[in-house]
Amino acid sequence: MPSPGVEIARTIADLRRTVARWRNAGQTIALAPTMGALHEGHLALVRLGKMRCDRAVASVFVNPLQFGPHEDFSRYPRDETLDIRKLASAGCDLAWMPEMGEMYPPGFATRVEVGGAAAGLEADFRPHHFGGVATVCLKLFAATAPDAAVFGEKDYQQICVIRQMVRDFNLPLEIAALPTVREPGGLALSTRNVYLSPEERAIAPRLYRTLREAAEAAARGESIPETCDLAVKKLTSYGFSKVDYVAIRDAESLAPHSRDSGRRSRVLAAAWLGKTRLIDNVEVLPA
Ligand code: AMP
Repeated sequence: MPSPGVEIARTIADLRRTVARWRNAGQTIALAPTMGALHEGHLALVRLGKMRCDRAVASVFVNPLQFGPHEDFSRYPRDETLDIRKLASAGCDLAWMPEMGEMYPPGFATRVEVGGAAAGLEADFRPHHFGGVATVCLKLFAATAPDAAVFGEKDYQQICVIRQMVRDFNLPLEIAALPTVREPGGLALSTRNVYLSPEERAIAPRLYRTLREAAEAAARGESIPETCDLAVKKLTSYGFSKVDYVAIRDAESLAPHSRDSGRRSRVLAAAWLGKTRLIDNVEVLPA
Protein backbone atom coordinates (compact mmCIF):
# COMPACT_ATOMS: atom_id res chain seq x y z
CA MET A 1 0.00 0.00 0.00
CA PRO A 2 1.67 3.28 -1.04
CA SER A 3 2.00 5.80 1.74
CA PRO A 4 2.48 9.53 1.14
CA GLY A 5 6.04 10.68 1.69
CA VAL A 6 7.85 7.36 1.94
CA GLU A 7 9.03 5.46 -1.08
CA ILE A 8 9.24 1.66 -0.84
CA ALA A 9 11.99 -0.48 -2.36
CA ARG A 10 11.82 -4.27 -2.43
CA THR A 11 14.94 -5.01 -4.44
CA ILE A 12 18.56 -3.87 -4.24
CA ALA A 13 18.22 -2.55 -7.80
CA ASP A 14 15.25 -0.32 -6.80
CA LEU A 15 17.09 0.88 -3.71
CA ARG A 16 20.20 1.75 -5.72
CA ARG A 17 18.19 3.61 -8.36
CA THR A 18 16.67 5.91 -5.74
CA VAL A 19 19.97 6.37 -3.89
CA ALA A 20 21.73 7.20 -7.20
CA ARG A 21 19.11 9.86 -7.93
CA TRP A 22 19.79 11.49 -4.56
CA ARG A 23 23.55 11.22 -5.01
CA ASN A 24 23.30 12.89 -8.42
CA ALA A 25 21.47 15.75 -6.70
CA GLY A 26 24.40 16.06 -4.25
CA GLN A 27 22.46 14.72 -1.27
CA THR A 28 23.84 12.69 1.65
CA ILE A 29 22.19 9.51 2.91
CA ALA A 30 21.66 7.93 6.34
CA LEU A 31 20.62 4.32 6.88
CA ALA A 32 18.72 3.03 9.92
CA PRO A 33 18.76 -0.79 9.93
CA THR A 34 15.74 -2.34 11.73
CA MET A 35 13.84 -5.59 11.99
CA GLY A 36 10.44 -3.85 11.86
CA ALA A 37 7.57 -3.87 14.40
CA LEU A 38 8.72 -0.33 14.85
CA HIS A 39 8.45 1.71 18.03
CA GLU A 40 9.53 5.22 19.06
CA GLY A 41 13.16 4.09 19.47
CA HIS A 42 13.33 3.10 15.81
CA LEU A 43 11.63 6.32 14.72
CA ALA A 44 14.13 8.34 16.76
CA LEU A 45 16.88 6.61 14.74
CA VAL A 46 15.23 7.79 11.53
CA ARG A 47 14.98 11.33 12.89
CA LEU A 48 18.65 11.27 13.92
CA GLY A 49 19.48 10.08 10.40
CA LYS A 50 17.55 13.01 8.94
CA MET A 51 19.42 15.42 11.20
CA ARG A 52 22.76 14.03 10.01
CA CYS A 53 21.98 13.63 6.31
CA ASP A 54 19.64 14.94 3.62
CA ARG A 55 17.89 11.59 3.17
CA ALA A 56 16.98 8.76 5.54
CA VAL A 57 16.56 5.14 4.48
CA ALA A 58 15.15 2.61 6.97
CA SER A 59 15.64 -1.05 6.23
CA VAL A 60 13.07 -3.47 7.58
CA PHE A 61 14.26 -7.06 7.46
CA VAL A 62 13.97 -9.81 10.06
CA ASN A 63 17.39 -11.34 9.64
CA PRO A 64 17.34 -15.10 10.26
CA LEU A 65 21.15 -15.24 10.54
CA GLN A 66 21.17 -13.44 13.87
CA PHE A 67 18.67 -15.74 15.60
CA GLY A 68 19.71 -18.92 17.40
CA PRO A 69 17.91 -22.20 16.57
CA HIS A 70 15.63 -21.94 19.64
CA GLU A 71 15.05 -18.20 19.46
CA ASP A 72 11.98 -16.29 18.29
CA PHE A 73 12.62 -15.84 14.54
CA SER A 74 9.32 -17.42 13.46
CA ARG A 75 7.19 -15.59 16.04
CA TYR A 76 9.06 -12.25 15.85
CA PRO A 77 6.36 -9.52 15.47
CA ARG A 78 5.83 -8.29 11.89
CA ASP A 79 3.50 -5.47 10.76
CA GLU A 80 4.58 -4.02 7.46
CA THR A 81 1.59 -1.74 6.86
CA LEU A 82 1.91 -0.09 10.24
CA ASP A 83 5.71 0.18 9.85
CA ILE A 84 5.30 2.05 6.55
CA ARG A 85 2.86 4.48 8.13
CA LYS A 86 5.18 5.08 11.10
CA LEU A 87 8.22 5.59 8.87
CA ALA A 88 6.29 8.16 6.80
CA SER A 89 5.33 10.04 9.99
CA ALA A 90 9.00 10.12 11.10
CA GLY A 91 10.12 11.73 7.84
CA CYS A 92 11.76 8.62 6.39
CA ASP A 93 12.40 8.99 2.65
CA LEU A 94 12.71 5.32 1.71
CA ALA A 95 11.60 2.10 3.37
CA TRP A 96 13.75 -0.74 2.12
CA MET A 97 11.83 -3.97 2.68
CA PRO A 98 13.64 -6.79 0.91
CA GLU A 99 12.24 -10.32 0.64
CA MET A 100 14.30 -13.15 2.10
CA GLY A 101 15.46 -14.31 -1.36
CA GLU A 102 16.75 -10.83 -2.20
CA MET A 103 19.08 -10.83 0.83
CA TYR A 104 19.93 -14.53 0.90
CA PRO A 105 19.40 -16.07 -2.55
CA PRO A 106 20.10 -19.76 -3.09
CA GLY A 107 23.84 -20.31 -2.95
CA PHE A 108 24.51 -17.53 -0.44
CA ALA A 109 27.50 -18.83 1.55
CA THR A 110 29.57 -16.03 3.14
CA ARG A 111 29.60 -14.98 6.78
CA VAL A 112 31.40 -12.12 8.54
CA GLU A 113 33.16 -13.07 11.75
CA VAL A 114 33.95 -10.12 14.02
CA GLY A 115 36.50 -10.35 16.85
CA GLY A 116 37.35 -7.79 19.53
CA ALA A 117 34.16 -6.22 20.82
CA ALA A 118 32.15 -9.22 19.59
CA ALA A 119 33.70 -11.52 22.20
CA GLY A 120 31.97 -12.24 25.52
CA LEU A 121 28.79 -10.74 27.06
CA GLU A 122 26.01 -11.43 24.50
CA ALA A 123 28.27 -13.79 22.53
CA ASP A 124 28.57 -16.10 25.54
CA PHE A 125 24.82 -16.70 25.38
CA ARG A 126 24.10 -16.13 21.66
CA PRO A 127 27.21 -17.48 19.94
CA HIS A 128 26.16 -16.82 16.31
CA HIS A 129 24.31 -13.58 16.92
CA PHE A 130 26.97 -11.00 16.05
CA GLY A 131 28.17 -12.95 13.02
CA GLY A 132 24.59 -12.73 11.73
CA VAL A 133 24.28 -9.03 12.59
CA ALA A 134 27.62 -8.14 10.98
CA THR A 135 26.81 -10.14 7.84
CA VAL A 136 23.44 -8.47 7.31
CA CYS A 137 24.82 -5.01 8.13
CA LEU A 138 27.66 -5.42 5.66
CA LYS A 139 25.10 -6.35 3.00
CA LEU A 140 22.87 -3.40 3.94
CA PHE A 141 25.85 -1.03 3.82
CA ALA A 142 27.02 -2.41 0.47
CA ALA A 143 23.54 -2.10 -1.06
CA THR A 144 22.82 1.41 0.25
CA ALA A 145 26.33 2.94 0.37
CA PRO A 146 25.18 5.42 3.05
CA ASP A 147 27.26 8.29 4.45
CA ALA A 148 26.10 7.34 7.94
CA ALA A 149 24.34 4.43 9.61
CA VAL A 150 22.45 4.98 12.85
CA PHE A 151 22.19 2.44 15.66
CA GLY A 152 20.64 2.52 19.14
CA GLU A 153 22.65 2.32 22.34
CA LYS A 154 19.93 -0.06 23.55
CA ASP A 155 22.04 -2.74 21.81
CA TYR A 156 25.31 -1.34 23.06
CA GLN A 157 27.58 -4.27 22.21
CA GLN A 158 26.07 -4.31 18.72
CA ILE A 159 27.26 -0.73 18.11
CA CYS A 160 30.76 -1.67 19.30
CA VAL A 161 30.74 -4.69 16.97
CA ILE A 162 29.60 -2.62 13.99
CA ARG A 163 32.25 0.01 14.74
CA GLN A 164 34.86 -2.75 14.97
CA MET A 165 33.83 -4.09 11.55
CA VAL A 166 33.73 -0.60 9.98
CA ARG A 167 37.23 0.09 11.29
CA ASP A 168 38.66 -3.29 10.34
CA PHE A 169 37.25 -3.23 6.79
CA ASN A 170 37.81 0.53 6.26
CA LEU A 171 34.15 0.93 5.34
CA PRO A 172 33.49 4.50 4.16
CA LEU A 173 30.67 5.44 6.50
CA GLU A 174 30.16 7.01 9.88
CA ILE A 175 28.37 5.12 12.68
CA ALA A 176 26.08 7.35 14.75
CA ALA A 177 24.70 6.24 18.12
CA LEU A 178 21.31 7.16 19.57
CA PRO A 179 20.79 7.11 23.37
CA THR A 180 18.24 4.50 24.47
CA VAL A 181 14.61 5.61 24.26
CA ARG A 182 12.73 4.54 27.40
CA GLU A 183 9.21 4.36 28.81
CA PRO A 184 8.54 6.90 31.60
CA GLY A 185 9.32 4.18 34.21
CA GLY A 186 12.73 3.54 32.62
CA LEU A 187 12.08 0.33 30.67
CA ALA A 188 13.94 0.48 27.36
CA LEU A 189 11.55 0.31 24.40
CA SER A 190 11.94 -3.03 22.65
CA THR A 191 9.92 -4.96 20.10
CA ARG A 192 10.17 -7.94 22.45
CA ASN A 193 8.40 -6.09 25.30
CA VAL A 194 5.10 -7.31 23.77
CA TYR A 195 6.02 -10.80 25.00
CA LEU A 196 5.87 -9.66 28.66
CA SER A 197 2.84 -10.56 30.80
CA PRO A 198 1.33 -7.74 32.92
CA GLU A 199 3.18 -9.12 35.98
CA GLU A 200 6.50 -9.26 34.11
CA ARG A 201 5.94 -5.77 32.73
CA ALA A 202 5.61 -4.46 36.28
CA ILE A 203 9.01 -5.97 37.19
CA ALA A 204 10.85 -5.07 33.96
CA PRO A 205 11.69 -1.39 34.80
CA ARG A 206 13.76 -2.71 37.74
CA LEU A 207 16.44 -3.72 35.27
CA TYR A 208 17.22 -0.12 34.34
CA ARG A 209 16.98 1.07 37.95
CA THR A 210 19.35 -1.66 39.12
CA LEU A 211 21.87 -0.79 36.42
CA ARG A 212 21.64 2.88 37.36
CA GLU A 213 22.40 1.96 40.98
CA ALA A 214 25.32 -0.21 39.89
CA ALA A 215 26.68 2.64 37.73
CA GLU A 216 26.43 5.04 40.67
CA ALA A 217 28.21 2.55 42.98
CA ALA A 218 30.99 2.08 40.40
CA ALA A 219 31.33 5.85 40.04
CA ARG A 220 31.68 6.15 43.84
CA GLY A 221 34.62 3.76 43.64
CA GLU A 222 33.01 0.60 44.98
CA SER A 223 34.45 -2.76 43.94
CA ILE A 224 33.44 -3.69 40.40
CA PRO A 225 32.95 -7.46 41.04
CA GLU A 226 30.95 -6.76 44.22
CA THR A 227 28.82 -4.15 42.47
CA CYS A 228 27.98 -6.62 39.69
CA ASP A 229 27.24 -9.43 42.17
CA LEU A 230 24.94 -7.18 44.16
CA ALA A 231 23.08 -6.19 40.98
CA VAL A 232 22.54 -9.88 40.12
CA LYS A 233 21.20 -10.54 43.63
CA LYS A 234 18.84 -7.57 43.43
CA LEU A 235 17.47 -8.60 40.03
CA THR A 236 16.85 -12.13 41.27
CA SER A 237 15.07 -10.83 44.36
CA TYR A 238 12.81 -8.64 42.18
CA GLY A 239 11.62 -11.68 40.24
CA PHE A 240 13.96 -11.97 37.23
CA SER A 241 14.02 -15.69 36.58
CA LYS A 242 17.64 -15.79 35.40
CA VAL A 243 20.43 -13.23 35.04
CA ASP A 244 22.80 -14.03 32.17
CA TYR A 245 25.29 -11.34 33.16
CA VAL A 246 25.84 -7.96 34.77
CA ALA A 247 29.23 -6.57 33.76
CA ILE A 248 31.12 -3.30 33.87
CA ARG A 249 33.29 -2.92 30.81
CA ASP A 250 35.40 -0.40 28.94
CA ALA A 251 32.86 1.72 27.05
CA GLU A 252 34.66 1.38 23.70
CA SER A 253 36.51 -1.94 23.57
CA LEU A 254 34.18 -3.75 26.01
CA ALA A 255 37.31 -5.25 27.59
CA PRO A 256 37.22 -5.65 31.39
CA HIS A 257 37.38 -2.19 32.90
CA SER A 258 40.27 -1.02 34.99
CA ARG A 259 39.76 2.12 37.05
CA ASP A 260 43.36 3.22 36.63
CA SER A 261 42.91 3.49 32.87
CA GLY A 262 40.91 6.70 33.33
CA ARG A 263 38.68 5.49 30.48
CA ARG A 264 34.89 5.60 30.30
CA SER A 265 32.98 2.50 31.34
CA ARG A 266 29.53 1.04 30.90
CA VAL A 267 27.31 -1.34 32.89
CA LEU A 268 25.71 -3.98 30.66
CA ALA A 269 23.24 -6.72 31.55
CA ALA A 270 20.95 -9.40 30.21
CA ALA A 271 18.22 -10.97 32.34
CA TRP A 272 15.15 -13.11 31.82
CA LEU A 273 11.56 -12.55 32.84
CA GLY A 274 9.91 -15.88 32.16
CA LYS A 275 10.54 -16.66 28.47
CA THR A 276 11.60 -13.09 27.57
CA ARG A 277 15.22 -12.01 27.60
CA LEU A 278 15.80 -8.29 28.27
CA ILE A 279 19.07 -6.45 27.72
CA ASP A 280 19.99 -2.97 28.87
CA ASN A 281 23.04 -0.85 29.66
CA VAL A 282 23.92 2.51 31.21
CA GLU A 283 26.92 4.76 31.20
CA VAL A 284 29.06 5.07 34.35
CA LEU A 285 29.18 8.82 34.81
CA PRO A 286 32.32 10.17 36.51
CA ALA A 287 31.54 11.02 40.17
P1 AMP B 1 15.87 -3.98 16.07
O1 AMP B 1 14.72 -3.72 15.16
O2 AMP B 1 15.46 -4.41 17.44
O3 AMP B 1 16.91 -4.87 15.44
O4 AMP B 1 16.59 -2.59 16.30
C1 AMP B 1 16.96 -1.79 15.23
C2 AMP B 1 17.72 -0.60 15.74
O5 AMP B 1 16.90 0.13 16.65
C3 AMP B 1 18.99 -0.99 16.51
O6 AMP B 1 20.03 -0.06 16.19
C4 AMP B 1 18.56 -0.84 17.93
O7 AMP B 1 19.63 -0.58 18.83
C5 AMP B 1 17.63 0.36 17.84
N1 AMP B 1 16.74 0.40 19.00
C6 AMP B 1 15.91 -0.57 19.42
N2 AMP B 1 15.29 -0.19 20.55
C7 AMP B 1 15.78 1.04 20.86
C8 AMP B 1 15.54 1.96 21.92
N3 AMP B 1 14.69 1.71 22.91
N4 AMP B 1 16.21 3.13 21.91
C9 AMP B 1 17.09 3.42 20.93
N5 AMP B 1 17.35 2.60 19.88
C10 AMP B 1 16.70 1.42 19.86
